[in-house]
Amino acid sequence: MAIDPVCGMEVDERTTKDRAMHEGSTYYFCSKDCREEFEASPGDYVGGEEEMTGT
Ligand SMILES: [Zn+2]
Repeated sequence: MAIDPVCGMEVDERTTKDRAMHEGSTYYFCSKDCREEFEASPGDYVGGEEEMTGT
């Protein structure tokens, strides 16, 4: 299973049609809405070192 980076849901990467490439990685989404949200501002969801974990 993959994790939808937008809402945090588990997504079956074998069945979902909602996926997006970002910086060489593939991300999977539970719905078109989440995919569009991600594509609008991928940096918000895959921040890398800029993750908003609030340390
Ligand atoms: Zn989602």
